[in-house]
Amino acid sequence: MGGTFDPIHFGHLVTAEEALVQFNLNRVVFMPSGNPARKTHREVTSGEHRYLMAVIATASNPDFEVSRMEIDRAGPTYTVDTLRTLRSIHGSRADLYFITGADAVWEIVTWKDADEFVDLCTFIAATRPGYDLDAARSEHAEQLARLKIEFIEVPALAISSTDIRLRVKEKRPVRYLTSESVAAYIEKQKLYREAY
Ligand code: ATP
Ligand code: MG
Repeated sequence: MGGTFDPIHFGHLVTAEEALVQFNLNRVVFMPSGNPARKTHREVTSGEHRYLMAVIATASNPDFEVSRMEIDRAGPTYTVDTLRTLRSIHGSRADLYFITGADAVWEIVTWKDADEFVDLCTFIAATRPGYDLDAARSEHAEQLARLKIEFIEVPALAISSTDIRLRVKEKRPVRYLTSESVAAYIEKQKLYREAY
């Protein structure tokens, strides 16, 4: 599961757990992005902070781990590079899935070397109850033809990192949107107090 994770929250964690169970995965690897190739409109929190928040949020789950692969790589993050690396580590017989939000999945065909994705992984796209999958499928026929995509429904979680950052800046609660440990880390490191 790739993302900025700035910060990780229960939307990410619920989605990961649901994917793990529905696809009988061995584990879910959270992979905070390095220098984001596409999120340039705001200053993203350092990779080290985002990585550590993902670690503490997932620490109690033996099926979840966090990878430093993207934050330690120099230059911008391209998912195709990560998938190629994972494929070379785990071999051609491993089933690789890339977990993402359903809204984000339609953009993937615009990513670098998108034509390689079909051979590298299956996408698991999380929809929320109420998401009109049939409408989305007919609207995005081109994407469906070019990628392998499976859909899962996750409970309606209107949680976003953007909202959490804004809440911290405005001194409103983030408890129950992300783990207590992440909330404490944000407080301790004084994250998101100025900009969001
Ligand atoms: P931001 O508000 O900064 O964009 P975000 O909450 O969308 O952050 P990301 O790190 O951008 O979090 O998301 C990582 C992945 O998790 C993306 O594929 C995104 O679609 C998915 N995702 C984010 N929030 C949720 C949620 N509440 N439920 C399910 N999936 C989510
Ligand atoms: Mg997002």
